[in-house]
Amino acid sequence: MENTMTLTSHVTHLECAISKKKFDNRQVQTFCSNEAEGWKAPLFAKYDFLNYVDKEVLLDREASLWRYFEFLPVLDPANIVTLGEGMTPLLHLENLAKEFGINKLLLKDESLNPTGSFKARGQAVAVSKMKELGIKQCIVPTAGNAGGALAAYGAKANIEVTVVMPRLTPEIFKQECRYFGAELILVDGLINDCGKLVAEMKAENGYFDVSTMKEPYRLEGKKTMGFEIAEQMNWELPDVIFYPTGGGTGLIGLWKAFEEMKQAGWITGKFPRLVAVQTENCQPIVWSYEGKHKNASAYQAKPSMANGLAVPSPFAERQILEILKESNGFAISVSEQELLDGVKTLSKREGLFVAPEGGALIPAMKKALENKWVSRDETILLLNTGSGYKYAENLL
Ligand SMILES: *Cc1c(COP(=O)(O)O)cnc(C)c1O
Repeated sequence: MENTMTLTSHVTHLECAISKKKFDNRQVQTFCSNEAEGWKAPLFAKYDFLNYVDKEVLLDREASLWRYFEFLPVLDPANIVTLGEGMTPLLHLENLAKEFGINKLLLKDESLNPTGSFKARGQAVAVSKMKELGIKQCIVPTAGNAGGALAAYGAKANIEVTVVMPRLTPEIFKQECRYFGAELILVDGLINDCGKLVAEMKAENGYFDVSTMKEPYRLEGKKTMGFEIAEQMNWELPDVIFYPTGGGTGLIGLWKAFEEMKQAGWITGKFPRLVAVQTENCQPIVWSYEGKHKNASAYQAKPSMANGLAVPSPFAERQILEILKESNGFAISVSEQELLDGVKTLSKREGLFVAPEGGALIPAMKKALENKWVSRDETILLLNTGSGYKYAENLL
Protein backbone atom coordinates (compact mmCIF):
# COMPACT_ATOMS: atom_id res chain seq x y z
CA MET A 1 0.00 0.00 0.00
CA GLU A 2 1.13 3.58 -0.62
CA ASN A 3 3.04 5.70 1.93
CA THR A 4 3.38 2.74 4.27
CA MET A 5 6.57 4.17 5.77
CA THR A 6 4.63 7.00 7.39
CA LEU A 7 2.00 4.83 9.09
CA THR A 8 2.10 4.36 12.86
CA SER A 9 -0.23 2.13 14.84
CA HIS A 10 -1.58 3.72 18.04
CA VAL A 11 -1.90 0.33 19.75
CA THR A 12 -0.53 0.37 23.31
CA HIS A 13 -1.36 -3.01 24.93
CA LEU A 14 -3.95 -5.76 25.35
CA GLU A 15 -6.45 -5.79 28.20
CA CYS A 16 -8.58 -8.55 29.72
CA ALA A 17 -12.30 -7.92 29.05
CA ILE A 18 -13.18 -8.84 32.65
CA SER A 19 -10.28 -8.13 35.02
CA LYS A 20 -8.78 -5.26 32.92
CA LYS A 21 -5.37 -6.82 33.53
CA LYS A 22 -2.81 -5.61 30.98
CA PHE A 23 -0.93 -7.87 28.56
CA ASP A 24 2.11 -7.03 26.41
CA ASN A 25 1.13 -6.75 22.75
CA ARG A 26 4.75 -7.38 21.66
CA GLN A 27 4.50 -10.99 22.85
CA VAL A 28 2.26 -13.81 21.64
CA GLN A 29 -1.01 -13.64 23.62
CA THR A 30 -4.20 -15.68 23.70
CA PHE A 31 -6.87 -14.99 26.35
CA CYS A 32 -7.15 -14.39 30.08
CA SER A 33 -8.30 -17.02 32.54
CA ASN A 34 -8.98 -17.05 36.25
CA GLU A 35 -9.28 -20.60 37.52
CA ALA A 36 -10.16 -19.59 41.08
CA GLU A 37 -13.18 -17.59 39.90
CA GLY A 38 -13.89 -19.99 37.04
CA TRP A 39 -13.89 -17.66 34.05
CA LYS A 40 -12.08 -17.15 30.78
CA ALA A 41 -12.20 -13.88 28.87
CA PRO A 42 -10.96 -12.40 25.60
CA LEU A 43 -8.21 -9.80 25.38
CA PHE A 44 -9.01 -6.46 23.74
CA ALA A 45 -6.39 -4.36 21.94
CA LYS A 46 -6.15 -0.87 23.39
CA TYR A 47 -5.04 2.29 21.59
CA ASP A 48 -3.71 5.72 22.43
CA PHE A 49 -6.38 8.33 21.68
CA LEU A 50 -4.54 11.28 23.20
CA ASN A 51 -2.39 11.73 20.11
CA TYR A 52 -4.97 12.94 17.66
CA VAL A 53 -5.50 11.27 14.29
CA ASP A 54 -7.42 13.51 11.89
CA LYS A 55 -9.91 11.51 9.83
CA GLU A 56 -8.77 13.57 6.83
CA VAL A 57 -5.84 11.11 6.66
CA LEU A 58 -8.30 8.65 5.11
CA LEU A 59 -8.69 10.73 1.96
CA ASP A 60 -5.59 9.36 0.22
CA ARG A 61 -5.69 5.87 1.69
CA GLU A 62 -6.35 2.72 -0.35
CA ALA A 63 -9.81 1.12 -0.35
CA SER A 64 -9.10 -1.71 2.09
CA LEU A 65 -9.46 -2.12 5.85
CA TRP A 66 -5.81 -1.10 6.21
CA ARG A 67 -6.90 2.50 5.68
CA TYR A 68 -7.54 2.52 9.46
CA PHE A 69 -3.96 1.51 10.22
CA GLU A 70 -3.63 3.79 13.28
CA PHE A 71 -6.41 1.78 14.94
CA LEU A 72 -5.11 -1.63 13.95
CA PRO A 73 -2.61 -3.71 15.98
CA VAL A 74 0.09 -4.36 13.36
CA LEU A 75 3.20 -2.36 14.30
CA ASP A 76 5.21 -2.54 11.07
CA PRO A 77 3.29 -2.02 7.79
CA ALA A 78 5.76 -4.43 6.14
CA ASN A 79 3.97 -7.24 7.99
CA ILE A 80 0.58 -6.56 6.38
CA VAL A 81 -0.76 -9.66 4.60
CA THR A 82 -3.55 -8.50 2.30
CA LEU A 83 -5.81 -9.98 -0.36
CA GLY A 84 -7.78 -6.75 -0.75
CA GLU A 85 -10.21 -7.22 2.16
CA GLY A 86 -12.61 -4.55 3.37
CA MET A 87 -14.20 -1.37 2.01
CA THR A 88 -17.21 -3.39 0.90
CA PRO A 89 -20.26 -1.65 -0.59
CA LEU A 90 -23.02 -0.10 1.51
CA LEU A 91 -26.14 -0.61 -0.61
CA HIS A 92 -29.61 0.96 -0.46
CA LEU A 93 -32.33 -1.71 -0.56
CA GLU A 94 -34.88 0.51 -2.28
CA ASN A 95 -37.29 -2.23 -3.36
CA LEU A 96 -37.53 -3.77 0.09
CA ALA A 97 -37.65 -0.37 1.82
CA LYS A 98 -40.70 0.45 -0.29
CA GLU A 99 -42.30 -2.95 0.33
CA PHE A 100 -41.88 -2.69 4.12
CA GLY A 101 -42.49 1.08 4.28
CA ILE A 102 -39.08 1.71 5.83
CA ASN A 103 -37.56 5.17 5.58
CA LYS A 104 -34.01 4.00 4.90
CA LEU A 105 -32.87 0.38 4.56
CA LEU A 106 -29.17 -0.30 3.98
CA LEU A 107 -27.14 -3.47 3.50
CA LYS A 108 -23.40 -3.73 4.05
CA ASP A 109 -22.33 -6.45 1.64
CA GLU A 110 -19.49 -8.49 3.09
CA SER A 111 -19.90 -11.20 0.43
CA LEU A 112 -17.41 -9.29 -1.73
CA ASN A 113 -14.47 -9.96 0.57
CA PRO A 114 -11.74 -12.47 -0.40
CA THR A 115 -13.06 -16.05 0.13
CA GLY A 116 -16.62 -14.70 0.12
CA SER A 117 -17.20 -13.64 3.71
CA PHE A 118 -16.31 -11.11 6.38
CA LYS A 119 -14.06 -13.73 7.99
CA ALA A 120 -11.39 -12.38 5.60
CA ARG A 121 -11.21 -9.19 7.69
CA GLY A 122 -10.44 -11.06 10.89
CA GLN A 123 -7.97 -13.47 9.36
CA ALA A 124 -6.14 -10.73 7.42
CA VAL A 125 -5.30 -8.98 10.69
CA ALA A 126 -4.72 -12.21 12.66
CA VAL A 127 -2.32 -13.57 10.01
CA SER A 128 -0.50 -10.23 9.72
CA LYS A 129 0.05 -10.29 13.49
CA MET A 130 1.21 -13.94 13.31
CA LYS A 131 3.75 -12.89 10.71
CA GLU A 132 4.85 -9.99 12.91
CA LEU A 133 5.21 -12.28 15.94
CA GLY A 134 7.05 -15.00 14.00
CA ILE A 135 4.34 -17.69 14.31
CA LYS A 136 4.76 -20.38 11.64
CA GLN A 137 2.02 -22.96 12.33
CA CYS A 138 -1.58 -22.42 13.37
CA ILE A 139 -4.85 -24.29 13.81
CA VAL A 140 -8.50 -23.26 13.81
CA PRO A 141 -11.86 -24.85 14.56
CA THR A 142 -14.40 -23.49 12.09
CA ALA A 143 -18.02 -23.65 10.99
CA GLY A 144 -16.71 -23.03 7.45
CA ASN A 145 -15.74 -19.50 6.45
CA ALA A 146 -13.11 -18.83 9.12
CA GLY A 147 -11.15 -21.90 8.01
CA GLY A 148 -11.19 -20.98 4.33
CA ALA A 149 -10.13 -17.42 5.04
CA LEU A 150 -7.32 -18.50 7.39
CA ALA A 151 -6.10 -21.01 4.78
CA ALA A 152 -5.98 -18.29 2.10
CA TYR A 153 -4.08 -15.74 4.20
CA GLY A 154 -1.82 -18.49 5.54
CA ALA A 155 -0.92 -19.43 1.96
CA LYS A 156 -0.02 -15.82 1.20
CA ALA A 157 2.03 -15.47 4.41
CA ASN A 158 3.80 -18.87 4.19
CA ILE A 159 2.22 -19.94 7.49
CA GLU A 160 1.05 -23.57 7.85
CA VAL A 161 -2.66 -23.88 8.56
CA THR A 162 -4.66 -26.78 9.98
CA VAL A 163 -8.45 -26.44 9.68
CA VAL A 164 -10.86 -28.53 11.77
CA MET A 165 -14.39 -28.44 10.31
CA PRO A 166 -17.72 -30.23 10.78
CA ARG A 167 -18.11 -33.01 8.19
CA LEU A 168 -21.60 -31.69 7.38
CA THR A 169 -20.26 -28.41 5.88
CA PRO A 170 -20.92 -27.87 2.13
CA GLU A 171 -18.14 -29.27 -0.09
CA ILE A 172 -16.83 -25.92 -1.36
CA PHE A 173 -15.75 -24.91 2.18
CA LYS A 174 -13.57 -28.04 2.31
CA GLN A 175 -12.31 -27.73 -1.23
CA GLU A 176 -11.08 -24.15 -0.79
CA CYS A 177 -9.03 -25.18 2.27
CA ARG A 178 -7.38 -27.97 0.26
CA TYR A 179 -6.67 -25.62 -2.65
CA PHE A 180 -5.10 -23.07 -0.29
CA GLY A 181 -2.79 -25.84 0.92
CA ALA A 182 -4.18 -26.23 4.44
CA GLU A 183 -4.42 -29.53 6.29
CA LEU A 184 -8.14 -30.29 6.61
CA ILE A 185 -9.58 -32.44 9.40
CA LEU A 186 -13.30 -33.32 9.37
CA VAL A 187 -15.20 -33.94 12.59
CA ASP A 188 -18.65 -35.44 13.25
CA GLY A 189 -20.35 -32.68 15.21
CA LEU A 190 -20.46 -28.89 15.38
CA ILE A 191 -17.75 -26.24 15.89
CA ASN A 192 -17.56 -26.94 19.64
CA ASP A 193 -16.60 -30.56 18.85
CA CYS A 194 -13.96 -29.22 16.45
CA GLY A 195 -12.75 -26.98 19.27
CA LYS A 196 -12.17 -29.99 21.53
CA LEU A 197 -9.95 -31.65 18.92
CA VAL A 198 -8.08 -28.38 18.40
CA ALA A 199 -7.37 -28.15 22.14
CA GLU A 200 -5.86 -31.65 22.07
CA MET A 201 -3.85 -31.04 18.90
CA LYS A 202 -2.38 -27.73 20.02
CA ALA A 203 -1.29 -29.26 23.34
CA GLU A 204 0.47 -31.97 21.35
CA ASN A 205 1.96 -29.97 18.47
CA GLY A 206 2.32 -26.44 19.84
CA TYR A 207 0.23 -24.94 17.01
CA PHE A 208 -1.04 -21.42 17.59
CA ASP A 209 -4.82 -21.50 18.18
CA VAL A 210 -6.79 -18.97 16.09
CA SER A 211 -10.19 -19.86 17.67
CA THR A 212 -12.82 -17.12 17.75
CA MET A 213 -12.02 -14.64 20.57
CA LYS A 214 -9.26 -16.84 22.03
CA GLU A 215 -6.93 -14.98 19.69
CA PRO A 216 -7.01 -11.19 20.16
CA TYR A 217 -6.66 -9.85 16.61
CA ARG A 218 -9.46 -11.33 14.48
CA LEU A 219 -11.67 -8.95 16.44
CA GLU A 220 -9.53 -6.01 15.32
CA GLY A 221 -10.05 -6.98 11.68
CA LYS A 222 -13.79 -7.35 12.08
CA LYS A 223 -14.18 -4.05 13.91
CA THR A 224 -13.22 -2.24 10.70
CA MET A 225 -16.81 -2.88 9.52
CA GLY A 226 -17.83 -0.30 12.10
CA PHE A 227 -15.27 2.22 10.86
CA GLU A 228 -16.43 1.69 7.28
CA ILE A 229 -20.13 2.04 8.11
CA ALA A 230 -19.39 5.39 9.78
CA GLU A 231 -17.18 6.62 6.95
CA GLN A 232 -19.64 5.47 4.25
CA MET A 233 -22.50 7.23 6.06
CA ASN A 234 -20.51 10.45 6.38
CA TRP A 235 -19.87 9.80 10.11
CA GLU A 236 -23.53 9.38 11.04
CA LEU A 237 -24.46 5.92 12.28
CA PRO A 238 -27.69 4.01 11.52
CA ASP A 239 -30.34 3.64 14.25
CA VAL A 240 -30.34 -0.17 14.24
CA ILE A 241 -27.98 -2.86 12.95
CA PHE A 242 -29.17 -6.46 12.41
CA TYR A 243 -26.22 -8.82 12.72
CA PRO A 244 -26.20 -12.65 12.26
CA THR A 245 -24.47 -13.83 15.43
CA GLY A 246 -22.36 -16.96 15.83
CA GLY A 247 -19.25 -16.42 17.95
CA GLY A 248 -20.09 -12.72 18.18
CA THR A 249 -16.81 -11.29 16.90
CA GLY A 250 -18.60 -9.00 14.47
CA LEU A 251 -21.01 -7.68 17.09
CA ILE A 252 -18.28 -7.03 19.65
CA GLY A 253 -16.14 -5.53 16.88
CA LEU A 254 -18.83 -3.09 15.74
CA TRP A 255 -19.28 -1.82 19.29
CA LYS A 256 -15.52 -1.53 19.82
CA ALA A 257 -15.27 0.49 16.62
CA PHE A 258 -18.00 2.90 17.73
CA GLU A 259 -16.33 3.41 21.10
CA GLU A 260 -12.92 3.97 19.53
CA MET A 261 -14.23 6.42 16.93
CA LYS A 262 -15.95 8.34 19.72
CA GLN A 263 -12.73 8.44 21.75
CA ALA A 264 -10.86 9.60 18.66
CA GLY A 265 -13.44 12.36 18.14
CA TRP A 266 -14.44 10.91 14.75
CA ILE A 267 -18.12 10.52 15.67
CA THR A 268 -20.51 12.05 18.17
CA GLY A 269 -24.05 11.18 19.09
CA LYS A 270 -25.95 7.98 19.70
CA PHE A 271 -24.67 4.51 18.85
CA PRO A 272 -26.96 2.09 16.98
CA ARG A 273 -29.01 -0.57 18.74
CA LEU A 274 -27.42 -3.91 17.92
CA VAL A 275 -29.65 -6.89 17.19
CA ALA A 276 -28.22 -10.42 17.40
CA VAL A 277 -29.97 -12.65 14.86
CA GLN A 278 -29.79 -16.44 15.28
CA THR A 279 -31.48 -19.57 13.90
CA GLU A 280 -33.95 -21.63 15.94
CA ASN A 281 -31.58 -24.59 15.42
CA CYS A 282 -28.88 -22.80 17.40
CA GLN A 283 -30.00 -19.86 19.51
CA PRO A 284 -27.90 -19.83 22.70
CA ILE A 285 -27.65 -16.04 22.78
CA VAL A 286 -31.42 -15.62 22.36
CA TRP A 287 -31.95 -18.05 25.25
CA SER A 288 -29.46 -16.23 27.47
CA TYR A 289 -30.97 -12.87 26.52
CA GLU A 290 -34.47 -14.17 27.37
CA GLY A 291 -33.28 -15.88 30.56
CA LYS A 292 -34.20 -19.38 29.32
CA HIS A 293 -30.86 -20.70 30.57
CA LYS A 294 -28.18 -19.34 32.90
CA ASN A 295 -25.58 -19.41 30.14
CA ALA A 296 -24.82 -21.29 26.94
CA SER A 297 -22.26 -23.73 28.37
CA ALA A 298 -24.55 -26.78 28.05
CA TYR A 299 -26.68 -25.61 25.13
CA GLN A 300 -27.67 -28.41 22.72
CA ALA A 301 -27.72 -27.21 19.11
CA LYS A 302 -28.76 -28.69 15.79
CA PRO A 303 -26.85 -28.03 12.56
CA SER A 304 -28.08 -25.11 10.44
CA MET A 305 -28.04 -24.19 6.76
CA ALA A 306 -26.47 -21.02 8.12
CA ASN A 307 -23.39 -22.88 9.38
CA GLY A 308 -21.77 -19.65 10.65
CA LEU A 309 -24.58 -19.43 13.21
CA ALA A 310 -24.11 -23.00 14.47
CA VAL A 311 -21.99 -21.98 17.48
CA PRO A 312 -23.57 -23.64 20.57
CA SER A 313 -21.38 -22.05 23.30
CA PRO A 314 -19.73 -18.80 22.20
CA PHE A 315 -16.49 -18.11 24.12
CA ALA A 316 -17.38 -14.40 24.39
CA GLU A 317 -21.03 -14.90 25.41
CA ARG A 318 -20.74 -12.57 28.38
CA GLN A 319 -19.36 -9.72 26.25
CA ILE A 320 -22.06 -10.25 23.57
CA LEU A 321 -24.83 -9.99 26.18
CA GLU A 322 -23.28 -6.90 27.78
CA ILE A 323 -23.26 -5.15 24.41
CA LEU A 324 -26.86 -6.12 23.58
CA LYS A 325 -27.86 -4.55 26.89
CA GLU A 326 -25.66 -1.48 26.62
CA SER A 327 -26.79 -0.73 23.07
CA ASN A 328 -30.44 -1.22 24.03
CA GLY A 329 -30.64 -3.95 21.42
CA PHE A 330 -32.05 -7.46 21.57
CA ALA A 331 -31.65 -11.05 20.33
CA ILE A 332 -34.08 -12.78 17.98
CA SER A 333 -34.26 -16.13 16.18
CA VAL A 334 -35.83 -17.28 12.92
CA SER A 335 -36.57 -20.74 11.51
CA GLU A 336 -34.53 -22.50 8.83
CA GLN A 337 -37.44 -22.04 6.38
CA GLU A 338 -37.62 -18.33 7.20
CA LEU A 339 -33.92 -17.75 6.60
CA LEU A 340 -34.09 -19.60 3.29
CA ASP A 341 -37.05 -17.39 2.31
CA GLY A 342 -34.89 -14.40 3.30
CA VAL A 343 -32.16 -15.53 0.89
CA LYS A 344 -34.81 -15.79 -1.86
CA THR A 345 -36.26 -12.36 -1.05
CA LEU A 346 -32.87 -10.62 -1.25
CA SER A 347 -32.10 -12.46 -4.50
CA LYS A 348 -35.39 -11.72 -6.24
CA ARG A 349 -36.01 -8.21 -4.96
CA GLU A 350 -32.50 -6.77 -4.68
CA GLY A 351 -30.22 -8.88 -6.91
CA LEU A 352 -28.15 -10.10 -3.97
CA PHE A 353 -27.34 -13.80 -3.51
CA VAL A 354 -26.49 -13.72 0.19
CA ALA A 355 -25.37 -16.40 2.62
CA PRO A 356 -28.19 -17.99 4.70
CA GLU A 357 -26.76 -16.06 7.68
CA GLY A 358 -27.55 -12.85 5.78
CA GLY A 359 -30.91 -14.23 4.65
CA ALA A 360 -31.88 -14.59 8.33
CA LEU A 361 -31.81 -10.81 8.69
CA ILE A 362 -34.95 -10.32 6.57
CA PRO A 363 -37.39 -12.40 8.70
CA ALA A 364 -35.72 -11.02 11.85
CA MET A 365 -36.34 -7.47 10.66
CA LYS A 366 -39.94 -8.33 9.73
CA LYS A 367 -40.62 -9.68 13.24
CA ALA A 368 -38.96 -6.68 14.87
CA LEU A 369 -41.11 -4.29 12.82
CA GLU A 370 -44.30 -6.24 13.64
CA ASN A 371 -43.45 -6.19 17.35
CA LYS A 372 -42.59 -2.48 17.14
CA TRP A 373 -39.10 -3.10 18.53
CA VAL A 374 -37.91 -1.20 15.47
CA SER A 375 -39.80 1.58 13.76
CA ARG A 376 -40.26 2.21 10.04
CA ASP A 377 -38.92 5.77 10.27
CA GLU A 378 -35.55 4.56 11.55
CA THR A 379 -32.44 3.93 9.47
CA ILE A 380 -31.96 0.16 9.47
CA LEU A 381 -28.72 -1.53 8.43
CA LEU A 382 -28.54 -5.24 7.60
CA LEU A 383 -25.05 -6.69 7.83
CA ASN A 384 -24.76 -9.44 5.24
CA THR A 385 -21.75 -11.46 6.33
CA GLY A 386 -21.21 -13.78 3.36
CA SER A 387 -21.89 -14.96 -0.16
CA GLY A 388 -24.67 -17.38 -1.09
CA TYR A 389 -22.52 -19.00 -3.77
CA LYS A 390 -20.61 -21.13 -1.24
CA TYR A 391 -23.86 -22.60 0.16
CA ALA A 392 -25.59 -23.34 -3.15
CA GLU A 393 -25.66 -27.14 -2.65
CA ASN A 394 -27.79 -26.66 0.51
CA LEU A 395 -30.09 -23.94 -0.86
CA LEU A 396 -32.87 -25.99 -2.43
C1 LIG B 1 -18.75 -16.70 11.05
C2 LIG B 1 -19.95 -16.21 10.36
C3 LIG B 1 -20.97 -15.55 11.06
C4 LIG B 1 -20.92 -15.34 12.56
O1 LIG B 1 -19.91 -14.42 12.86
P1 LIG B 1 -19.41 -14.16 14.35
O2 LIG B 1 -18.54 -12.98 14.22
O3 LIG B 1 -18.70 -15.39 14.77
O4 LIG B 1 -20.62 -13.90 15.17
C5 LIG B 1 -22.04 -15.05 10.35
N1 LIG B 1 -22.12 -15.20 9.01
C6 LIG B 1 -21.18 -15.84 8.30
C7 LIG B 1 -21.35 -15.97 6.83
C8 LIG B 1 -20.06 -16.35 8.95
O5 LIG B 1 -19.12 -16.98 8.23
